Amino acid sequence: MDSLVGGFFYRSIQQIRKKQIDSVSSKQDTRLKSDISPEEFRRAGHDVVDWIADYLTHPEQLNVSPDVRPGELIDKLDPEPPREGTQPSEMLADFDRTILPHVMHWNHPGFMAYFSAGGSNPGILAESLTAALNNIGLLWCSSPALTELEQTTLKWLAQLLGLQQSWFGMINGGASTASLHAIIAAREQANIAAREAGSELDLNRIVIYASEQAHSSIAKTMSILGRDPDACRKIPCNEVFSMQPERLRDSIESDLGNGLFPIAIVATIGTTASASVDPVDDIADIASEFKLWLHVDAAYAGAAAMLDEKAHHFKGVDRADSFVVNPHKWLFVPMDCAAFYTSRPEVLKHALSLVPEYLSSQEHSSAVNFMEYSIPLGRRFRALKLWYVLRTLGSDRIISILREHIRLAGLLADWVDKSADFQRVAPVHFSLVCLHYCPAGASDEEAAEMSERLLEAVNASGEFLLSHARLDGCFVIRVAIGNIRTSEVHIRRLWELMQGLASSQI
Ligand code: PLP
Repeated sequence: MDSLVGGFFYRSIQQIRKKQIDSVSSKQDTRLKSDISPEEFRRAGHDVVDWIADYLTHPEQLNVSPDVRPGELIDKLDPEPPREGTQPSEMLADFDRTILPHVMHWNHPGFMAYFSAGGSNPGILAESLTAALNNIGLLWCSSPALTELEQTTLKWLAQLLGLQQSWFGMINGGASTASLHAIIAAREQANIAAREAGSELDLNRIVIYASEQAHSSIAKTMSILGRDPDACRKIPCNEVFSMQPERLRDSIESDLGNGLFPIAIVATIGTTASASVDPVDDIADIASEFKLWLHVDAAYAGAAAMLDEKAHHFKGVDRADSFVVNPHKWLFVPMDCAAFYTSRPEVLKHALSLVPEYLSSQEHSSAVNFMEYSIPLGRRFRALKLWYVLRTLGSDRIISILREHIRLAGLLADWVDKSADFQRVAPVHFSLVCLHYCPAGASDEEAAEMSERLLEAVNASGEFLLSHARLDGCFVIRVAIGNIRTSEVHIRRLWELMQGLASSQI
C-alpha cells in the first residue's frame, strides 16, 4: 500500500514538474537565444566524443610535440573577439585545423618527458560530467556530493596506499599547492607552540628543510610566505641523491644557534630529477626530536605505495604530519588531481578558516567544509574523476599497470647497463630511467654535449618526447614512463631510435 501511495505521489510530482518544464521552455523559446540548443549540444557532443575516441585510439598518428615556434598560434588567431557566434559543428573543425597543430600530446604513448600526466578514458568521461554539473565545493551544502565523494575516494586511496585511515584528505590542483598548505600548517603549529610557551614566532626568521633534489615548489613556499627561497635549506644528498639525515641535523642545529625558527622538514619520495628517495623514517626521528612538521612530497612516486615490493621506500610515512601524491601523475587521472593528507587537520583549519556571514550554513559544524582547510574558496569536483578511474579500472588493474611500467623501466635500464656507449646515472626505483650517452674515451663535457644533441634529435623525431635534468653537474636524459598507453613496443622502439640516432648523428 505504502509503495502504491509513494508511486502515485512520485508520478504526480513528475507530471507537475513536466508541466513546469514545458511552460518554462515554451517561454524560453520566445526569448533571446542564450545557450546552444539541447539538440545542437547532443549532435556536437557526439562529434566530440567520436573525435576523442579516434584521437585516443591512434595517438601515434600525430607527432608527440608540435613543430611550432612561440607566437605562431597567436598570429593565426583573430585578435578581435568574435561578435557573431559559430556553429558548434564548425568549432570542432576549427579546433582540428587551428588549435591541434599547436598541441603537445601528453596522452601520446611516446610522451615520456617530465612526469607523465596521461589521463585514462574513464577520467576523461568524468571530466565531461564534472563540467556539466559545474559544482563548486566551498561548503558541504554547496555540493554535498563533491564533499562526500572527495572524503570517500581519498579514504579509498589512503587504504590503497597504506596510509593512516584517520588522516584527513583533500584534493588540490597540484602538489605545489598541497605543499604550500603543509607549510602553512607547519607555520601555524610553530605559532601555536610559541604562544603556548609564552613567546612569539618571528615570521621573518622561519626556516624549512628539504634536500637539494627537492622540487622547486618547496622553496617557493618560502617566497610565498614572505621569506627568501633560501629560507628553504637545501640539505646535501648522498651518491644516490637521497637526503643525508646527519647533514639535516647539522643544518637545524646551526640555524637554532643563529636564532632562526625551524618549522618543517620536507622529505621527498621520488624526486623530480631522478626519482630518488629520502630516508623518511630517519628524517621522522629528527622531526620529532626538534618538534618540526614533517611533510612528505610523493607527487609522482606515491602511487607505488600500492605495491608491496615498494613498501620499503615508504617506511616512516605513517609518522608524517602531511603527505601529497598526484593521481594526475601516475594514477591515470587527468590533470588536475593532487591528493593531500594530513594527520593534523585542526592545525590547517586554525590557519585557514575564515567564514564570512554570507558563507555560514546550518550544517557548518556537522559537516566538512573544505574551504576552511584550503586557500581557494571555490574547488572543482575533482573527486568525480578519481572515483570514475578507481571504480572503472579497479585497484587490481591499476596495480598491474604500475608494475608493467616499472618492468618497462627495468627493461630499458638493463639495455642501458649492457650497452658500451650509454650509462645509467641513477638507480631506477620506480618507472623513471636517467641515462646519458657517453661512448668510451669521451670527456664529461663531450658526453654532456652529445647527450644534449641526442635528446634534441629524439624529440625532433616526433615519435617521443623526453626531458632532461642535471645530476651532480652531469646532463641527464630522463625517460619517464607512466602513460597508460605506453607499452613494451614503445620502449623497444625508443631504445632502437636512441641507439640509431646516437651512432648516426653524433
Ligand atoms: N613535487 C615533485 C616531486 C614533482 O616532481 C612535482 C612535479 O613534477 C611537483 C612536486 C609539482 O607538482 P604540481 O605540478 O602538481 O604542482
